[in-house]
Amino acid sequence: MSRRATKIVATLGPASSDPALLEQMIRAGVNVVRLNFSHGKAQDHIDRARLVREASQRAGREVAIMADLQGPKIRVGKFAEGKVFLEPGQKFVLDAGRTELGDIDAVGLDYKSLPQEVKAGDVLLLNDGLIVITVDAVRGDAVHTTVKLGGELSNNKGINKQGGGLTAPALTGKDMEDIRTAMSFQADYVAVSFPKNATDMEMARQLCNVAAAEYNHKPGLIAKIERAEAIPRLEEILLASDGIMVARGDLAVEVGNAAVPALQKRMIKLAREHDKVVITATQMMESMITNPVPTRAEVSDVANAVLDGTDAVMLSAETAAGKYPLETVVEMAKICLAAEGGDPVKLDADFSGKFFHRIDQSIAMGALFTAHHLGAKAIVAMTDSGSTALWMSRHLIHVPIYALTSKVVTQRRMTLYRNVRPLLMDTSADRDTALADSESYLKTRGIVQRGDIYAITCGEPMGAPGGTNMLKICQVG
Ligand code: PGA
Ligand code: MN
Repeated sequence: MSRRATKIVATLGPASSDPALLEQMIRAGVNVVRLNFSHGKAQDHIDRARLVREASQRAGREVAIMADLQGPKIRVGKFAEGKVFLEPGQKFVLDAGRTELGDIDAVGLDYKSLPQEVKAGDVLLLNDGLIVITVDAVRGDAVHTTVKLGGELSNNKGINKQGGGLTAPALTGKDMEDIRTAMSFQADYVAVSFPKNATDMEMARQLCNVAAAEYNHKPGLIAKIERAEAIPRLEEILLASDGIMVARGDLAVEVGNAAVPALQKRMIKLAREHDKVVITATQMMESMITNPVPTRAEVSDVANAVLDGTDAVMLSAETAAGKYPLETVVEMAKICLAAEGGDPVKLDADFSGKFFHRIDQSIAMGALFTAHHLGAKAIVAMTDSGSTALWMSRHLIHVPIYALTSKVVTQRRMTLYRNVRPLLMDTSADRDTALADSESYLKTRGIVQRGDIYAITCGEPMGAPGGTNMLKICQVG
């Protein structure tokens, strides 16, 4: 039986909000559903979260919900006619003090501190880099510019500064409100947009934990790496987060398209080395917004992210607003599966020079090593918090990991971990009963058969977090 290790994150939107379609998408391979808080009202997200939980129940597959916060909006204001067409060489003014609607000469700013943060010579990118303007001078509230690369500029389009350096705080008042909404339905992950440093993530974590306390919930935190400033601070951001997103859309605008592939590889490697998860996002299957098949370049892009070691690949407009949401998931799942087979396991090299000082982590590594060398059929981790499964999943191995937990929140959290299939089972019995229960559970599901060898880890006493202290190699009787 072929089993896909790489996970798929799909953004929910008008194109995928039909309950039956969403159920099909989950059956086809969606592991995490992303709710994009840049669009819609609080109640829309609450309704969509219920839709996801219900569809996942019907599909018989647990999926996680990721609430993706909008973050600071560094945007131009509105135009009298909705848009203008900027010609190369013309002058254009971005004016924080302007109250009237924009025209071909000037427009107001949503982001009022822009004039304080740019100087003559800076390059600004509008509308995801499609329009390029350079700053000639800043006079009071007005940023005077010359258009280098022209194009259509419409209401509230985004502004990026080449090389980064705009200081907007990562969490806005709206984000704080949205965190409370997301915690009301216990979103499993919260993605923070445009964090600059660890402090932004710590602040987000505090707000999440306060908002989730009454539900006795703690979400996982994902830092979207999409600012130039975040790159030199990757390590501290990783330490303050549970994972990162390679947010290639905004990142490419700030650092230039050509720099992104190498950064993607570095980010994926660094995340795994720090025992964190990583999602590769944006324009992965872009042409499938309108076409029923991907381009060969897109196939290669998804496959390369898999070979880089990403935990998950993400779909944005493809599933939120595209014509072929289900087909896109099916295609993406196929590409992942085909790419996974091609990579040789380098477990011995992974371990060389490494020291594992924790008992639970040593057991996890022992299970990997043993299962790989024995050619075991499966690795089974009985886990309370999910950390055993997370450690195991940081190394490439072709033996599938099955994580058994009695907590549905842990099960959902683990849906993002590469090569981990999270399953719900009561693990609170005494050790021998739990081991026997696990084996019959795996047998009933066809995961192992008579004669198969598998490695299983658990802790005594059972059901306590961080207590994994036992590895057993079993042959199915
Ligand atoms: P966004 O983030 O889709 O919320 O902008 C992802 C990215 O910038 O790549
Ligand atoms: Mn972004």
